[in-house]
Amino acid sequence: MNKFWSEAVKRTEPYVPGEQLDDPSIIKLNTNENPYGPSPHVAEAIQSELTRKLHLYPAPDADELRVELGRYFKLDKDYIFAGNGSDEVLAFSFMAFFEQNAKIRFPAVTYSFYPVYAKLFNVPYEEIPLNRDFTLSAEDFFGSEGGIIIANPNAPTGLYLDTETIEEIVINNPERVVIIDEAYIDFAPASAVSLVQKYPNLLVVRTMSKSRSLAGLRVGFAIGDPGLIEALNRIKDSFNSYTIDRLAIAGAAAAIRDEGHLQETRHKIISTREWLISELKKRGFHVLPSQANFIFVTHYKASAESLYQRLKESGFLVRHFQKPAIENYLRITIGSNEQMENFLKALDYILQPSAGSAIQN
Ligand SMILES: *Cc1c(COP(=O)(O)O)cnc(C)c1O
Repeated sequence: MNKFWSEAVKRTEPYVPGEQLDDPSIIKLNTNENPYGPSPHVAEAIQSELTRKLHLYPAPDADELRVELGRYFKLDKDYIFAGNGSDEVLAFSFMAFFEQNAKIRFPAVTYSFYPVYAKLFNVPYEEIPLNRDFTLSAEDFFGSEGGIIIANPNAPTGLYLDTETIEEIVINNPERVVIIDEAYIDFAPASAVSLVQKYPNLLVVRTMSKSRSLAGLRVGFAIGDPGLIEALNRIKDSFNSYTIDRLAIAGAAAAIRDEGHLQETRHKIISTREWLISELKKRGFHVLPSQANFIFVTHYKASAESLYQRLKESGFLVRHFQKPAIENYLRITIGSNEQMENFLKALDYILQPSAGSAIQN
């Protein structure tokens, strides 16, 4: 504490991102990055912007990108807001749609940035307990006082809600905004974007970081009724007119244009995921049914904490959350097939009976 701090600074509990290690020999399976890299057209688009236009401010409304996204989703660009990573879009959404005197709801196990924003913006919240198998009951999200935010697929569990269930939640909160954070939706069956023209209280938030393999570029976007998009623009323009730089706008637009690259890499990741799940089950893991580019697992015998440590010593960084309901789980990002084959080799060494004493619960 410092006596010059504002109340907002004093009440924050900042988000702690997964470790970013500089050591290239470590295989990072801890922040759900995509091992295949972005479309090659991204670098070309950035290069051309870099050599010609860096002396000019970017378009404040990122129109090139919004038009491209509009074409992709078959929506007018008035339905689209773009921001500096979906984390920024989420922060603006908390400011634009949630109040300081009405409780919002989100699942008790979910993306840990939601309580961080709630504290920063002084938004009261209820964390809705999940069922024992980490599924959620849609009715628990009906009739909220202040609004809803749900990650779908959820993180860190990977569990997916079908579009009918999302629609029920939206219908049953007619006076409040329902935010669906679809960071991982390209690895799942269907997006709630199909509902935005029908429901003026639904905002879908997406990112270029995971399926498009552009975590380093920082681009996210929101899709919703133009009334909601206008609110986000009002917040942005009261804060920083140019949240996305020229290189990011050009690179992200090029990534959206390359649908073939997205399809190819997402299919690879999905097939590696299914293969890895079956391999881990053979090795005594309980694996939640994931529709994301990560899996959430617990071992019948070895503790998550010790597995996390031993894997790290073997050169594989996974995510372990020191939180009550999930402390015996690990979240493992789906890397390339080769990375996951090596991961299994390391795991087999760690789990062999002679090494057992080190990993008992
Ligand atoms: C990774 C992630 C984000 C953040 O994505 P950025 O666009 O990189 O800021 C948002 N929500 C969830 C659930 C995520 O896992």
